[in-house]
Amino acid sequence: MRGKTLALLRARPAIGSNRLLLVAAVYLGFCLNFSLWRYLAVHLTIDSLHTFAFALSFPVLLMSTVLLLINLFAWPYLVKPILLSLILMSSVANFMMFNYGVLLDVGMIQNVFETDTREAFGLVSFTGIVWVFFTGVIPALLLMRLNIQYRPALRETGIRMASILFCGVLVWGILSVLYKDYASFGRANTEIKHLISPINYIYSTARYLKRQSIARRDFKILDAHAKLAADHETPNAAPRVLVLVIGETARASSFALNGYARPTNPQLLQEDVINFSNVASCGTATAISVPCIFSAQPRREFSKDAEYKVQNLLDLLQLANYDIFWRDNDSGCKDVCERVPTEKITKNFPSRFCDSHNCFDEVLLENLDQRLATLTRNTVIVLHAIGNHGPAYYERYPEAFRQFTPDCRTGDLTRCSQAEIINSYDNAILYTDFFLAEAIRMLKRFPNLKSSLLYVSDHGESLGENGRYLHGMPYAIAPDNQKKVPMIFWLSDKLAQNDQLDAACLGQQATENAYSHDNLFHSLLGLMRVDTKLYDARLDIFGSCRKANRKADTFIMEAAAPQRAG
Ligand SMILES: [Zn+2]
Repeated sequence: MRGKTLALLRARPAIGSNRLLLVAAVYLGFCLNFSLWRYLAVHLTIDSLHTFAFALSFPVLLMSTVLLLINLFAWPYLVKPILLSLILMSSVANFMMFNYGVLLDVGMIQNVFETDTREAFGLVSFTGIVWVFFTGVIPALLLMRLNIQYRPALRETGIRMASILFCGVLVWGILSVLYKDYASFGRANTEIKHLISPINYIYSTARYLKRQSIARRDFKILDAHAKLAADHETPNAAPRVLVLVIGETARASSFALNGYARPTNPQLLQEDVINFSNVASCGTATAISVPCIFSAQPRREFSKDAEYKVQNLLDLLQLANYDIFWRDNDSGCKDVCERVPTEKITKNFPSRFCDSHNCFDEVLLENLDQRLATLTRNTVIVLHAIGNHGPAYYERYPEAFRQFTPDCRTGDLTRCSQAEIINSYDNAILYTDFFLAEAIRMLKRFPNLKSSLLYVSDHGESLGENGRYLHGMPYAIAPDNQKKVPMIFWLSDKLAQNDQLDAACLGQQATENAYSHDNLFHSLLGLMRVDTKLYDARLDIFGSCRKANRKADTFIMEAAAPQRAG
């Protein structure tokens, strides 16, 4: 009897490499994802064949993705340690997420790496040990005993590649057929990505390690001598003030100012704004576009990680003695405002524009007039608006701006028609139009300041054109709706006079020329009269309309140019 048991323990059951990977994918992707399935059961309403198919596609998508990933490492001597680590880590992750409601995002991974041993032992419980023993240790021991059978090298490679291709096509097929469902469910339930094991902890760990390596860098100064151009300001000159509004998810094609058939810009049409009708964004997502706008690097050379801890436009303005103030009603400044005073507006911000859920963009203007009234120094105020942040566009505008109806009243875009989605999106544009006009009217109340306002959106949005929604597509293949952004400029008479900035000339350039986020760094340095070696006059939108800079022939053109653009 004893001999028989020992023989059984010594036996090494054989298993083909394909079968092993398939079992591992089911175990890692399906079995060790309790909290993901619980989350879906709570948040996903199955009320049609379509939503049923969507729910069913989830585990298939996840298992295919895991199978694809582990296929990449399915080589002798490599596959066992990798699967072993994944099983043990997934087992712990599954326990933590299911029992403690932990989300495995970068912050959590940071906790794991930076926790001291006493704290870590505090998390160990009897239930945890039992749980991990049965779902992690035992399967890991079984795996160790297995004798994996491989085919001859060439055939094995062929099968691995075929398997990767098959999984890739399956993943691509599911995502393209159910793109709208995945996109809107994902955006409306952003925490879900931190529940998808093992992808969550692999991704977060990679991001954490990358962030650590970047954080060790020294701050890179590009120009230590940036200063206000000496010829321009006398000591007691009126302060120069720029309100820079960074918009969110507004696309150029939905602005009436750019020819959109709907009256989405009734308020800005009343103001003397210069509308730039052809402006390309730097990226198709906030995390790229926002740092890129402030970076000295043009889009083609821009890399988000390389630009972190590098002197940016705000640093240069600060160095030139500007007071900087960043106010954020969106998802944060993406490290751009690290070294300047910042105010992050949270949902509990005490304001009539906030409820406990979110704040309308007018909150950004609150008490700003008091600041302007007492201003004595040159100042740049950045307002980071939430604009048209989707997919819950209906949350971006107050009831009074609900003019295009019926509007989509949910963040689940699958529940709305395209017309309803566009209605809610356009209502949010209408509110942005009002918000910008309010900001301009506020600046007008302080004619003593050399003020100006520049509004530019970070990227656009797809609203169902060719079956695409939201944004974030790779730049090279993204449609224009995600890349063409509205840009508006207003300048006070005082600034126009002082800088001899010709609004009619600007208005003409704004309609005729194509610009991009790449122009902003240099244009704003120029507009703020900062003297720095980083400034490239060729990219300064305002440069050629400054009378002092203009050649004789442009003066002749000016005589025939129309009046200041309306
Ligand atoms: Zn954005």
